[in-house]
Amino acid sequence: MDIAQLRDKILKQDRRALARAITLVESAREDHRHQASHLLETLRGAGKQALRIGLSGTPGVGKSTFIESFGMMLTAQGLRVAVLAVDPSSARSGGSILGDKTRMDRLSRDPNAYIRPSPSQTHLGGVARRTREAVALCEAAGFDVVLIETVGVGQSETVVAEMSDLFLLLLAPAGGDELQGVKRGIMEMADIILVNKADGDLKSAAMRTCADYSGALRLLRKRPQDPQGYPKAMTVSALQENGLETAWQDMQTLIEWRRETGHWAGRRTQQAQYWFHEEVRQGVLALLEQGDARAALDRLETSVAKGEITPAAAADQVLAVLNIRAD
Ligand code: GDP
Repeated sequence: MDIAQLRDKILKQDRRALARAITLVESAREDHRHQASHLLETLRGAGKQALRIGLSGTPGVGKSTFIESFGMMLTAQGLRVAVLAVDPSSARSGGSILGDKTRMDRLSRDPNAYIRPSPSQTHLGGVARRTREAVALCEAAGFDVVLIETVGVGQSETVVAEMSDLFLLLLAPAGGDELQGVKRGIMEMADIILVNKADGDLKSAAMRTCADYSGALRLLRKRPQDPQGYPKAMTVSALQENGLETAWQDMQTLIEWRRETGHWAGRRTQQAQYWFHEEVRQGVLALLEQGDARAALDRLETSVAKGEITPAAAADQVLAVLNIRAD
């Protein structure tokens, strides 16, 4: 594959080249990894900085409906929108629930939008790298907004938040008056909580849920990267396309403030460092799965089970094989 040519085409916003490049970064083949790495290196700093928006929500809250309505609103304003997904469940089920294009039928036919199904991977670390690289490719291809979607399970919110400039949490109206068991850690990541389905019979429940979350957000520790009034909760109806303009304005206000105060750049720097450490960690974990280390692990596991060696001494032996002992 001619990487220089691929690079030029991506910079000219050629969608087929972008799709090919994303397929390349998703490949686990050794030679593809090298090419992908080279491509990303040649694209580093090229293109423009997109606004990366992370979006999380449990199945059924209306993520695809929201992305479609919100995406259509943005493309109508002349913005180019890419949609990517981090879908850890695809590894388990074999099929991606986020990758189904028919879910965003109108948006997928919009020439100013690009929807990429989630790659199926065996572990989140692999999905994270590929999505991060796909984000970089979309930026190089001149997209203004990159939406990164995930289902609210396990670690996937952290992964998405660590590659986004802005993190949205989408919720459905609660039945009762209790908060919907949203983990505190997830709430702390959110910049804007959107209570969806604020229409028809659900409208008053949505407004109550929104008020509950506004209260809960006020109790969180103030973060330096937030202007007055953020993080905030608001109601929207993705189905009736209500509240989307306001949500977009509030996102822009937040982002402009962060740009002016240096928090935008600071966050990207911190994220680059985070992923650097994460790549090293993943690399070391991969080493453990190979050759002598794998053999030592298997052998010592039995010895540890039989009480022939302490766990710590056994671990030392494995790390000695890797030549990366801490002391
Ligand atoms: P996802 O699983 O989070 O992607 O959720 P979907 O977008 O597939 O939506 C799940 C269901 O909720 C569908 O039946 C949608 O029509 C419905 N839904 C989504 N947004 C709204 C909304 O704003 N109002 C109402 N009433 N229903 C909605």
